[in-house]
Amino acid sequence: MQRRALGCLACLAVLLCAAMASASDDGMRTMRYAPGNEASARVWQDDLRERLRPILRVEDLAGSEIPLEAEFGEPRQESGYFIQEGRIRATEGRMISVVLARPEKGRPPFPSVVCIHGHGSHRMTPFDPAAKQYKQFGAVLARRGFIVISTDVGQHEVREAGRTLMGERLWDLMRCVDYLQSLPDADPARIGCAGLSLGGEMAMWLAAMDTRIAATVSAGFLTLMDQMEQNHCMCWKFDGLRELVDFPDIYALIAPRPLQCQNGLQEPDTQFTVPLARRALAEIEPAYADLGASENVQLHVHPGGHEIDLDALVTFLEARLLR
Ligand SMILES: [Zn+2]
Repeated sequence: MQRRALGCLACLAVLLCAAMASASDDGMRTMRYAPGNEASARVWQDDLRERLRPILRVEDLAGSEIPLEAEFGEPRQESGYFIQEGRIRATEGRMISVVLARPEKGRPPFPSVVCIHGHGSHRMTPFDPAAKQYKQFGAVLARRGFIVISTDVGQHEVREAGRTLMGERLWDLMRCVDYLQSLPDADPARIGCAGLSLGGEMAMWLAAMDTRIAATVSAGFLTLMDQMEQNHCMCWKFDGLRELVDFPDIYALIAPRPLQCQNGLQEPDTQFTVPLARRALAEIEPAYADLGASENVQLHVHPGGHEIDLDALVTFLEARLLR
């Protein structure tokens, strides 16, 4: 009994120290991750998710039981995989279009990946040979033995009153995870996500807020919010966000689950540069260390520009999800 009380006091002291260390003078980034231990890291993650849900305006959806009402057309054969177009229900008032690809070979249960496009693209982009930055990563993963799902990421219009753009984007991706979990041939314990640019940002958000995601590749996005205040579309920002966190804190919610960030050496100086990515990574690593999984976070620097490094993406997801 006494030992338990002492344990609680120690835990409280850690939390108080963490809170004091993280509180910033200007009222910004008040939930910045403060290194501690496994227990304090988990408390911080739960607390931060609780605080993010209301400002994303998805807290009412998070506990809801909305039927998927999936409707799909006949699968058609592509080279090495089958593809199907369909719709699932996102909210009571809204259906979303999705594309599903299944490997031609192999035996279920299959691992799966939510493949996420960026600005000016759509749900077919991960399969499109003309979308050169994406390297057809959805098609390649399907050929390699993954079930792949892709939906249209909201660009700049909020579709339902009372929502936020980021919350709707996130919720639609979480519904893709719901759908993967409903499939008898998909393994619910081996669901990953991957995306480029705004898709890399959404891979961050999805894995951070949905702990069903087992492995993540976030390409062409790792940076800090001060950089995104300049030279970039402001759709990443919403009321209350900067007061709580910076991007490394959102990535830290993914710990201890495997995370690969990709940044290219040819990124323009004003964009997602490698030096900025290294600074951000250094702020993500303490959460992985506290959760005993330092080896699970990596920055993959590649010689290209604002694009996916396909080999690194596939190798990373195969090693963590394909058995
Ligand atoms: Zn935008």
